[in-house]
Amino acid sequence: LMKSKVTVVGSGNWGSVAAKLIASNTIKLSSFHDEVRMWVFEETLPTGEKLTEVINRTNENVKYLPGIKLGKNVVADPDLEHAVKDASMLVFVTPHQFMEGICRRLVGKIKGDVQAISLIKGMEVKMEGPCMISTLISEKLGINCCVLMGANIANEIAVEKFSEATVGYREDKEVAERWVRLFSTPYFLVSAVQDVEGVELCGTLKNVVAIGAGLVDGLEMGNNTKAAIMRIGLREMRAFSKLMFSSVRDSTFFESCGVADLITTCLGGRNRKVAEAFAKNGGKRCFDELEAELLQGQKLQGVSTAKEVYEVLSHRGWLELFPLFTTVHEICIGRLPPSAIVEYSEHTPKFS
Ligand code: NAD
Ligand code: 13P
Repeated sequence: LMKSKVTVVGSGNWGSVAAKLIASNTIKLSSFHDEVRMWVFEETLPTGEKLTEVINRTNENVKYLPGIKLGKNVVADPDLEHAVKDASMLVFVTPHQFMEGICRRLVGKIKGDVQAISLIKGMEVKMEGPCMISTLISEKLGINCCVLMGANIANEIAVEKFSEATVGYREDKEVAERWVRLFSTPYFLVSAVQDVEGVELCGTLKNVVAIGAGLVDGLEMGNNTKAAIMRIGLREMRAFSKLMFSSVRDSTFFESCGVADLITTCLGGRNRKVAEAFAKNGGKRCFDELEAELLQGQKLQGVSTAKEVYEVLSHRGWLELFPLFTTVHEICIGRLPPSAIVEYSEHTPKFS
């Protein structure tokens, strides 16, 4: 039997942890090649060294996941085409805004019988309408693409604290089970559900709610208010997902990718953190500036996702059905003050 070769496309905070998780398994499981290749968007560190060289010398991603050994079988590769050339399993985990360009570069560069999975939380909005990242990968590269989402703050998984995750798959349960085997460890419990759109929309939309939760933190409004934002947000997540894809299942929202990811991101995520700073500054400093200052190269997904969701809603005439999603975007672009996050919540959201 042919052994599967895994390449991780992306090496940020979560990308690095994903490589570590996978590498701890490929070394143990006979159905995978030991080596895990990790594509690194090359950059020069303040020391003058290349990030890739430092990762390969120290076995640590010193910029995006300092202090954590990735495993000796992780090999950093700055050449995208080279990194994917021999792979039979591709794990995509970059900030979502870079995926269009990456897919464009990969057309014709991968083997025929490749399976993919996306750990990316986000979507693209095109003239034709919204496009999930797994669909972008699938359509541009002509390959099947599952997703893995969950309550997965990368820094906690890096130090092997227990968490769960959800694989979403379309048809092929065997393929989903291969992904589950590749990611599962005693501290990382993965289960699979046949609802790729539901899983991916959960992971994508909770980032918008987390911006709302961060605003509430910045305004020091307390736990009840934050819980209200989370509740309303969860309802809007479900309503939006079902309007997009009637196949989305209610049960998906009770998996790790649903309510659990919403909670952890609203409590401890980067979207929450930057939105808190935004509200503390009364909306006077923009998100891009605060992101650069607070995250040192890591990227927010919630602000751009709020814009993407808003575009879909306004195009379809659904803005008033989604007061939380709509308000988050209008606060992000400065049209409304941060305090507007609670001003509509006296009204019952019109959509259930
Ligand atoms: P990150 O936020 O650490 O982003 C930084 C990465 O982006 C670096 O690898 C950097 O080299 C790369 N980058 C910068 N400019 C680039 C460019 N022009 N082209 C390509 N790459 C570029 O990344 P992350 O935390 O690994 O997040 C990736 C995805 O995983 C996101 O969709 C995120 O929502 C999701 N996710 C993150 C976490 C987490 O806790 N960090 C958890 C679950 C899911
Ligand atoms: P943040 O990007 O807000 O840190 O969320 C991380 C995440 O997706 C946890 O599952």
